[in-house]
Amino acid sequence: MHILLVGAGLSGAVIARKLAEAGHRATVIDGRDHIAGNCHTERDPETGVMVHRYGPHIFHTDDEEVWDYVQGFMRFMPYKNRVKTTSQGAVYSLPVNLHTINQFYGRTMRPDEARAFIEEQADTSIEEPQTFEEQALRFVGPDLYEAFFKGYTEKQWGCSPTELPASILKRLPLRFNYDDNYFSHRFQGMPEHGYTEMVSRILDHPGIEVHLQTWFDPAAAGEYDHVFYSGALDGYFGYALGRLGYRTLDFKRFTYDGDYQGCAVMNYGDRQVPYTRITEHKHFSPWETHEKSTCYEEYSRACTPEDEPFYPIRLVDEKALLADYIARAEETEGVTFVGRLGTYRYLDMDRTIREALDTVAAYLSDTAQGRAP
Ligand code: UDP
Repeated sequence: MHILLVGAGLSGAVIARKLAEAGHRATVIDGRDHIAGNCHTERDPETGVMVHRYGPHIFHTDDEEVWDYVQGFMRFMPYKNRVKTTSQGAVYSLPVNLHTINQFYGRTMRPDEARAFIEEQADTSIEEPQTFEEQALRFVGPDLYEAFFKGYTEKQWGCSPTELPASILKRLPLRFNYDDNYFSHRFQGMPEHGYTEMVSRILDHPGIEVHLQTWFDPAAAGEYDHVFYSGALDGYFGYALGRLGYRTLDFKRFTYDGDYQGCAVMNYGDRQVPYTRITEHKHFSPWETHEKSTCYEEYSRACTPEDEPFYPIRLVDEKALLADYIARAEETEGVTFVGRLGTYRYLDMDRTIREALDTVAAYLSDTAQGRAP
């Protein structure tokens, strides 16, 4: 069979590889001039630093099969994401942990004391937090919320945290010990030669053809036995029902002789600082040595039709529109919608790969049994 993969990001590459290994022909197209989607990495020609062109991507997972899968293509170097935040004139440790709490309140509390203290700050009248703000007030109280989450979130999402779902904040842990690892997953690391090289190895199979700067034409879908589409869900239908909202990011690059900030990611909690964070990319590859440094200031704003969509905004209006598009997608024969853009979800890389592996396994089993997927 001949199958078309729209998008050469993680979803498209993983599915293409499995299809090719099962003896099918896979054609992968992507409108951009590079593979690997938003986890694309490249060397900055001026500094030699491996940069994450679309913002920081740190691989972390509890899914051992996914962890083994990626390592089948590239060695992952040990990497722990340790994020700092600048707020109200001081630098603090993130995610909120015992160090953050003691620094912020100028105290020397032990874990159980800090837990009891934070519980006093928290608004315990909120039983089931629905919004981002309620979640923050319930779990850390107003002081830490104002310092670390309110301003950052207004900048990142362009709306009040009272309009955002609690789930966004639930991504972050709150710890009563000195563990400052941003993620709680068992496995974490960085691909030694970058994500783009890793995706290139996934795509390196005689059954796979890749065409860049090639746009998908829905009218041509019928030429293939099946299409896996990882482009924007609303884009597939020509935005017929309206546009699903996204946030896009602008990166302002600058270089520095030496070490600019001493860590990979420095968040800025204050509303007055226009960017959300500064990433210093050489710290994403601590096993490399670079004299010069490449940094990106990261600015978030509403996504226009000309911009790259980054974060799906799943507010109430979007959810209704999304339901309509999902209904259309389900009626579309011969096309499977996959990945962050294809399903309009805020997906981490490990989940993207897990879903791609499951989707292609289901497809192969259906076709082997003669069922049209
Ligand atoms: N967040 C915040 N302050 C921070 C870091 C995160 O308010 O210093 C909020 C923000 O709304 C963000 C969410 O927590 O969208 C999830 O954070 P995460 O670090 O997972 O965001 P990502 O790196 O995926 O943009």
